[in-house]
Amino acid sequence: MNKILFSSIKEVSKKINSGEIRSSEILKASRKLIDTIKPLNAYISITSKLVDQESEEKDEKVENKATLGDLQGITIAIKDNFCTEGHPTTCGSLMLANFVPGYDATVCSRLKKSGAILTGKTNLDQFAMGSGTVDSFFGPTKNLWGSEFMDYYCFEEREMGKRKGSSSSGDNWYIAGGSSGGSAVAVASGTCYAALGSDTGGSTRNPASYCGLIGLKPTYGLVSRNGLIPLVNSMDVPGIITRRVDDALLILNAIAGPDSSDSTTLKEDYSPISLPDRIEVTGLRVGIPKEYRLSELSNEVDVCWQNVARILEEGGAKIIPVSLPHTELSIVCYSVLNQCEVASNMARYDGIEFGFRADETFSTEELFANTRGMGFNDVVRSRILAGNYFLLSENYENYFVKAMKVRRLIAQDFEAVWDAGIDILLTPTTLSDAQLYRDFIKADNQTQCSVQDYFTQPANMAGLPAVNVPISLSKKGLPLSLQLMSPILQERRLLSVAKWIEESVHFPKLLLRDSNLLV
Ligand code: GLN
Repeated sequence: MNKILFSSIKEVSKKINSGEIRSSEILKASRKLIDTIKPLNAYISITSKLVDQESEEKDEKVENKATLGDLQGITIAIKDNFCTEGHPTTCGSLMLANFVPGYDATVCSRLKKSGAILTGKTNLDQFAMGSGTVDSFFGPTKNLWGSEFMDYYCFEEREMGKRKGSSSSGDNWYIAGGSSGGSAVAVASGTCYAALGSDTGGSTRNPASYCGLIGLKPTYGLVSRNGLIPLVNSMDVPGIITRRVDDALLILNAIAGPDSSDSTTLKEDYSPISLPDRIEVTGLRVGIPKEYRLSELSNEVDVCWQNVARILEEGGAKIIPVSLPHTELSIVCYSVLNQCEVASNMARYDGIEFGFRADETFSTEELFANTRGMGFNDVVRSRILAGNYFLLSENYENYFVKAMKVRRLIAQDFEAVWDAGIDILLTPTTLSDAQLYRDFIKADNQTQCSVQDYFTQPANMAGLPAVNVPISLSKKGLPLSLQLMSPILQERRLLSVAKWIEESVHFPKLLLRDSNLLV
């Protein structure tokens, strides 16, 4: 079972479909592991016994040789900002702590239709506003890497060096990244084969970078947002976190495509992508944007960046310096646009229709004020305030409209690069390996985001697909990663190159040391 939990989705599917392993056994082992790693706080809730029943029905289907979905019996975790019918969906906030949606997000119903089993809902910064999973009402998520739980794991192919840092107790532990940190830890630890995150400014790629995982942000509009509780409607995309590129592709194929419940999904039918058996990078034109060479970039990430560029060149690719001149403006414009959309999106939480309601209020105004004052954390409240300020009629032109114009310039920077014949961009995802929690929280949320999202946010501004690819381990034994970005709807190219890199760098794969942990 140990090997099975960490295998590729394709391999496991084969075993499930042939009856060699039952999906109910996988779910049972996943549940056991979820329990073991509970102190990492990856999950806010786990799905009910109903799911056990479903997985047993799936076993019967296999026995009766019924038609099986592509993800038959595959365990998947869902970030807790996607609606799940009859199961709490909290957004990591007191405001929605007791909210139980009456419907499934389109991505969840598509996963289920493909046969997947949802293990639970994962932790996030409140309403996905953050980049560390440190601001959840349910407490922060700890990174598996560098934690005492790493003692339960070994590397599949090579000796694991002595773990640095003896204990992750107190505040001596590393952040998982965010805001989809719970999803990343759920996948890294082997409790599921894949997890959904959301990505508005980097929330899928950032935790994937710190947890050594593939983190795919698809083209805006390729995957339905119906049932994803909105942060910034014009930039939100469901993201996919897996241990392998092939797995991310299978999940994308299951969830992508038009949806009549989301008018922003692209109208063209989605044709499932498959990757060539032998990927070639000969002649591939790889752009290296000079604006991404920040002085704050850690030497270790810089070395990874140069090494992978060299490996690609040795494989026949052309490495070409490029310029994306408006990169620097992305974060400040994002913060204006984010806060404006947040001010409008959060207006629905007033204590009347959804979620938390403050009691002992004597007027409607007091009900609104107390509910919102108590139900939201400082981060959400300050974004609402700032957003409403930017949207005042006397400020609107100067902030919102100006930020929208700069957003256009950022998108045009990318278009100019593609027009010049660049196929793909190779950049860092994050400045360094994961920071210690106690160092990370020295900065406020706004400052954290402006540092963390620098490399990831521009892709959201332009709606581009982008993927995090883990490369190697740092001196501290933590994952170091890079990002690839491609033109809109070029997921096949993006994932082909990601897989080529994956096969060239051999980022270490984890296994449990002791299979008894699963029984
Ligand atoms: N860190 C960014 C923010 O807080 C992006 C979050 C995200 O992608 N959900 O807005």
